Amino acid sequence: MSLLLNDEVVMNKKFLFGSAVRQSLIYMLLMGLIIGIVFVPLSQKFLGLPTEKVYTLKFFIITIASGLIVGSASYFILKITILARLKDFLKNIEFISKNILDYQTGQISSMQKCKNYYVKVNSNDIVGFLAIKYNSLIRVIRSEFYQYDIVKEYSKIISETLQIEELNKSTVNFLCKNLDLFGIQIYKTTTNGKIALSKAKGVHTDLIDEMEKSLLDILDENKIRETNGKQIVEYGIAKIKPNYVYLFPLKHLNKEWIFVTYSNYYMTKERKNLMIRVLNEYKIAYESSERYERMQNMASVDELTGLYNRRFGMKRLNEEYKRALRIEKCMCLIMFDIDHFKNINDTYGHQTGDYILSTIGKILLDSFRSEDVVMRYGGEEFLCVLCNSESEGAKKRAEEIRKKVEDFDFIYRDLKIKVTISGGISVFNIDNNEEKKTPERLIREADEALYIAKRTGRNKVINYAPL
Ligand code: GH3
Ligand code: MG
Ligand code: MG
Repeated sequence: MSLLLNDEVVMNKKFLFGSAVRQSLIYMLLMGLIIGIVFVPLSQKFLGLPTEKVYTLKFFIITIASGLIVGSASYFILKITILARLKDFLKNIEFISKNILDYQTGQISSMQKCKNYYVKVNSNDIVGFLAIKYNSLIRVIRSEFYQYDIVKEYSKIISETLQIEELNKSTVNFLCKNLDLFGIQIYKTTTNGKIALSKAKGVHTDLIDEMEKSLLDILDENKIRETNGKQIVEYGIAKIKPNYVYLFPLKHLNKEWIFVTYSNYYMTKERKNLMIRVLNEYKIAYESSERYERMQNMASVDELTGLYNRRFGMKRLNEEYKRALRIEKCMCLIMFDIDHFKNINDTYGHQTGDYILSTIGKILLDSFRSEDVVMRYGGEEFLCVLCNSESEGAKKRAEEIRKKVEDFDFIYRDLKIKVTISGGISVFNIDNNEEKKTPERLIREADEALYIAKRTGRNKVINYAPL
């Protein structure tokens, strides 16, 4: 692109200062010469000058010289009018092509920093039209570079995000800032074909059935829609009617989104283009965030139970342990083990065993807070880390879970199976000068308490107590 522009400038130079200019000078001098020659007989005929005075060398030289002076003056006038303006164009074209080159080679960071691109339109003729067309070409080039800069900035921001939640957050922030929006919502179709709000900033609306239907229609139509001044949204504690609401459908592979933008300003065609370009980057980034999350999940989650696997769970335990040390809070561990699980496998088969493992996984997941860590520690052993929890709280929770499992109807292929679990609890209490208690020691204590629960009849929860 840069080479092409340079070539054009070279060509223009040649054209301006080569043949065309020389040609007009020659034509004008020739005109002056012809007028000078023609003036001799004309002056005799129309002015009635005597022949002996007109047909003299002196008169002849004077008329030709006057002709040549008029020709040169015309050329001079051409030079300070039309050629001067064309030179202005040339200067500007050279200026902008230099800036593009500097931008391409990284010497300037943004084309927006360069001023004086435009030429003055001060004549109502071909030169004026040329100036108008030139200025609109410059506007297109500037807008293109402006959009390119914005999209580049967006790409940089989202390249640093790995998870979908982070991506959505960065995207709504970026769009609000760069498109002068006071609110934005991202809706996405779910696997059951419905629509759900993924992220919102600034505004709040309830997704009523009617709205969901209209969002689905927009997706079918796959065209940008405007519902200006019709919709009422909650903005902070107030309810307002935004001046301009635009709905941008977006599709990629089997996924569909609708971005709803709320603004006080009309969205120009250029801004809509910019939005579309940002959304094109978004869908690609979404794809890779989703892939990343899937891989993270595969690496950290046990497939059968849906709990953290031992490797990832231990990593989380160490993090929580360090946090407990830092914030000087109590932390508890519960180790659960299914009672006589070998018998269950032997009696009902391995598949039934798997069903019980996965059901207990769900019970455990439902029973803990999101900040707690629950992992499949071994075959039919589970380790639960209760962050910021005292010994009594952990005992109460462990008892509840034990009871839940005892009361749960495990039914596999119409067979009802009775299952019980036992638990052992260890406590990390920094107030009791327990800084030396490592995570490994905590696990050992929970395991020892569990062993006592097993030895003393099973289906019970025991707190670790040092001998
Ligand atoms: P206890 O009450 O003392 O814990 O007895 P238990 O039979 O549960 O203990 P034991 O350690 O003897 O047996 C554990 C069994 O868990 C043996 C193993 O086959 C079974 N098991 C481990 N992982 C899986 C699994 O992924 N699926 C199934 N179905 N069984 C498993
Ligand atoms: Mg076991
Ligand atoms: Mg067992």
